[in-house]
Amino acid sequence: MFYDENENRKSISLVSIIVIILASLLVVGTILFDVQIRWVYVDKLAKSNQEVIVAQEENNKENNKENKKEEIKTQENKKEEKNENKSTQQTEKQEQQPTQKKEENDTKKQEQSTTQNQTQIPVVAPTQPATQPINPAPAEKNYGKIFLTFDDGPSNSTTGRLLDILKKYNVKATFFVTGNGSDELIKREYNEGHSIGLHTYSHSYKTVYASEEAFFNDLNKVDQRVYNAIGVHPKITRFPGGASNTVSKFNPGIMTRLAKQLKDKGYKYWDWNISSGDAGDTKDPDKIFENVTSQVSRDKRNIVLMHDIHEYTVNTIERIIIWAKENNYEFCRIEENMDPVHHRIAN
Ligand SMILES: [Zn+2]
Repeated sequence: MFYDENENRKSISLVSIIVIILASLLVVGTILFDVQIRWVYVDKLAKSNQEVIVAQEENNKENNKENKKEEIKTQENKKEEKNENKSTQQTEKQEQQPTQKKEENDTKKQEQSTTQNQTQIPVVAPTQPATQPINPAPAEKNYGKIFLTFDDGPSNSTTGRLLDILKKYNVKATFFVTGNGSDELIKREYNEGHSIGLHTYSHSYKTVYASEEAFFNDLNKVDQRVYNAIGVHPKITRFPGGASNTVSKFNPGIMTRLAKQLKDKGYKYWDWNISSGDAGDTKDPDKIFENVTSQVSRDKRNIVLMHDIHEYTVNTIERIIIWAKENNYEFCRIEENMDPVHHRIAN
């Protein structure tokens, strides 16, 4: 019994120990399981939270983007409204645009440019009045130019030498020719680049100013002569004695009538604004030089009257050319499309 009791106690305590161990294991296992579940849960929770946060951030980003876009659109609309009437700020605007997707930019630019093109039309209107020329001809167009004109030739004794001098300095001039001299000299004048004008054939005041018919018969005679020589009908003329002559007063009003009829027939008559004085006032080359150089000016077209039939005139011409070139004047010939210089008609 005693033994049995002893044995019984032993088995009871053994069972108790086993139970305690099992219970402990259970408790520990439960705790571990719980912790593991918590870890997994927390991990998942954290992940999902993170996802939520990321999603929220993305949402926020998207929202911000949208907000920004809205702001930009609003700003641009305001700009467009402000700039509706300004034409020069397109480049500025493009530089101010924030960087966005290219497609959006392109579309907006197109829209912008379309809008601007539509609204700019009234602004592009010319700033200058229509009556004001865009490029007005410079006032100094005719400044510094000398037009040498030689009347009454050609002369077989002097015109050839004059042409040599003009050629030496590459100076172009104008010859108002008559029935004098050889056709060869008129050919040479023309071929060397000078202008040919008509001065009447006879140069006789009594003949040419006797009547309009007489004048044009004489003019046609020299025209035919020139045409035979060079194949050209000149349209520039000069009256013997000029349009202001009073030697024609034996036929009252003839100069007025001739001036009108010349114009009607398509001619332009040329007078002069500088006289060399070689028609009778002087035969002194120094005086001729002084007469010309003292009257030449940059304020006008310098139309110089000379006569190539005089030895003393030809003797002066080289000095005049050298003086003019030293003073930066340019020599020109009269062209048929130029507006002529006219004297006041006195008869
Ligand atoms: Zn003359």
